[in-house]
Amino acid sequence: MIDYHVHTSLCNHANGAMDQYIQNAVAAGLKEICFLDHLTLHKNGRAQSMSPDDVPFYFHAARQLAYEYKHQILVKVGLEVDFDPENADQAQEIIRPFDFDVIGGSVHFIGDVNIVSSKDASVREKQSIDEICEQYLERLDQMISLDFADIVCHLDVVKKFGRRPSAVFEKKFDDILSKISYSNLTVELNTSGYSQAAKEFYPGAALLKKCHDRNIPVTIGSDAHSPDQVGRHYDKAMNLLLTTGYRHVSAFSRRTRYDIEISPSGPELLKQNHGGNT
Ligand SMILES: [Zn+2]
Ligand SMILES: [Zn+2]
Repeated sequence: MIDYHVHTSLCNHANGAMDQYIQNAVAAGLKEICFLDHLTLHKNGRAQSMSPDDVPFYFHAARQLAYEYKHQILVKVGLEVDFDPENADQAQEIIRPFDFDVIGGSVHFIGDVNIVSSKDASVREKQSIDEICEQYLERLDQMISLDFADIVCHLDVVKKFGRRPSAVFEKKFDDILSKISYSNLTVELNTSGYSQAAKEFYPGAALLKKCHDRNIPVTIGSDAHSPDQVGRHYDKAMNLLLTTGYRHVSAFSRRTRYDIEISPSGPELLKQNHGGNT
């Protein structure tokens, strides 16, 4: 298995040294780990992100570690870029000089509000979840149209704090999935949602099934902000992937996708989670 979404202390809200994340991935038996640290250019998000000046250090540190650990695990390096139409061009300029393995695209900000941060909860709670979801999907749609990233990160993260958008959004998510499929993008199964009030992965089981129905490839990531979170909830995630029908997850090298086969590691795994609770 692989973990394609781990952060580092460079983003100022994660902790642990990069090699600790790698060592935990090795101990968990993972075949690959990919650093996907934040690049946020939005004025309200810069303090919780690498600065553009950190990018060269980050890239070379990860490549150095890839060399040091090459006999134990594949270490990849990418960025979780915060999509904001106002600075999308600037983000592309920052990325371009580096041979990143993968770029993840995320929508965290709607206007000046961070919809995934507990710090912005009081502002966010004044809005209905449907209102937030409407704006979120508009942003996501823009991101997909711009061919900005390889991976769509935490697809339905609007549910993070437990409020669910109404059923009308199912159709809107369907339209987004059609665009993702048309753009040949990969969706991430982000296991961090299981640790949040949502108590589900991003995307949840029903949305993941729709991804599978459309032949949308998936990768998997823990969104670890500390080394102990590497590979979190992977037993449940494996079961969900397998019961959904997935037999591969996507990995990337220099922005080219390839498949890694997954298989049931034992009948217990499938039995334990049959029907899925995610
Ligand atoms: Zn994110
Ligand atoms: Zn993340």
